[in-house]
Amino acid sequence: MADASALRIAVIGAGWAGCAAAVELADQGHNVTLLEASRTLGGRARKVEQHGRTLDNGQHILLGAYAESLRLMRKVGVDLEKSLLRLPLQMCYPPASGGMHFVAPTLPAPLHLLWALLTSTGLNREDKMSLARFSTTARWMGWQMYQDCSVSELLQRFDQTERLCRLMWAPLCIAALNTPPERASAQVFLNVLRDSLGAKRAASDMLLPRTDLTALFPQHAADFVAQRGGQVKTGIAVRKIRKTGTNWELECGAGETPDVQLFDRIIIATGADRAAKLLATLEGADTPPALPSFGYEPITTCYLQYAPEITLPRAFFALLDQPELGHWGQFVFDRGQLNPEQAGLLAVVVSASGNAIELDNGALAAAIAAQLAQALGLPELAAPLWQQVISEKRATFSCSPGLARPGNETSIPGLLLAGDYTAGDYPATLEAAVRSGVLAAGKAALFT
Ligand SMILES: Cc1cc2nc3c(=O)[nH]c(=O)nc-3n(C[C@H](O)[C@H](O)[C@H](O)COP(=O)(O)OP(=O)(O)OC[C@H]3O[C@@H](n4cnc5c(N)ncnc54)[C@H](O)[C@@H]3O)c2cc1C
Repeated sequence: MADASALRIAVIGAGWAGCAAAVELADQGHNVTLLEASRTLGGRARKVEQHGRTLDNGQHILLGAYAESLRLMRKVGVDLEKSLLRLPLQMCYPPASGGMHFVAPTLPAPLHLLWALLTSTGLNREDKMSLARFSTTARWMGWQMYQDCSVSELLQRFDQTERLCRLMWAPLCIAALNTPPERASAQVFLNVLRDSLGAKRAASDMLLPRTDLTALFPQHAADFVAQRGGQVKTGIAVRKIRKTGTNWELECGAGETPDVQLFDRIIIATGADRAAKLLATLEGADTPPALPSFGYEPITTCYLQYAPEITLPRAFFALLDQPELGHWGQFVFDRGQLNPEQAGLLAVVVSASGNAIELDNGALAAAIAAQLAQALGLPELAAPLWQQVISEKRATFSCSPGLARPGNETSIPGLLLAGDYTAGDYPATLEAAVRSGVLAAGKAALFT
């Protein structure tokens, strides 16, 4: 029998935010319709089929601190042990490249960091003292800035050595915020460090997906929603939102109609730009809500396939990125250690890749292959069997100091927003998206 208190809720967009919102609402017994424009679930963290191979639109890494993502993955039946490779916090450069080696052991916090610091190589005493100083000062400040500034400024104020900035802070900042330190928010950087380095040891663990990104959560989320009577439709682009009295109607592309036609609530879970465009189409409301406009940063992933027996000494390495030498790669992942079906496949990430994407894909892949060959001391890496470069031009918003991000609620009751760009502690990440989806779901169900 239908539950009279169940609401009809449309979630527009099945990225990680939309999937999270849909799961929470379906779990509470609401009648959920999840609509996705693309044929593939997952948005900016999805699988990509290329020439008969399943890759991801970009290599992703999760943290042990991603509490909401991990909670929802468990809820929808993901076996976390099987689906994620859990590694201790580490920043290791290939030995031949002259970088640092920093790995946290399985000791309780903060001993794991202390031990990693004492045993690290490639840092001198001054670098280690400066890292310890950073950690103590940030804890003393409660990881809170009085006024936000750039990460570069924060590192200067904390008197961090040049080597530590180059080998540790800059790569961490670019990886976490996808924004170079000189333009990145110190407060958001501190938030990420607080929840990872500053929390229990497990929170600082690094989690690498063993499945493709659609299989990791969005597909399980869609199955969970469907099993609870909800509808999940791909290939449906919502074009217009209309408010009719207390109800909402959606207009979709030609020939695309959801089964449910009238809704009590709408959650727009698209990226910020799409959300702004959809809000501008709103009919039946005097003043459509407006969204601030964001700057964006690209991320490039370069996949290089070698013979299956090629494997790296670790599942991933940091790389010295020196664009002036054509060394664009920042991290390299050995996908064969994550999924045996991808033996010999390396994924090299270039975050904030604005300059790298000016090269054509062939030239960029060749430069990265040459960089790997040199950094790992393996000349054969210069000649991959095949290569695929995937650049997401608007991968994340540029996480600048003091950035104003909108809340989940709009000025119109019943119309909510979800996505990695809404207000929250985190930069544009899977966890920011999931937290936003969960918050939007909570507010949609509360409002009467
Ligand atoms: C290459 C790359 C690497 C990244 N690496 C990491 C990482 O290592 N760790 C990490 O935590 N984060 C990483 N991120 C960030 C993370 O992927 C995003 O923050 C997150 O996926 C955003 O999710 P979202 O649901 O907010 O938005 P989106 O994923 O953009 O989802 C929005 C969805 O809405 C759909 N849509 C748009 N318009 C309509 C419409 N009119 N009708 C219906 N559907 C519509 C879109 O197709 C899309 O599926 C990375 C991102 C990229 C691109």
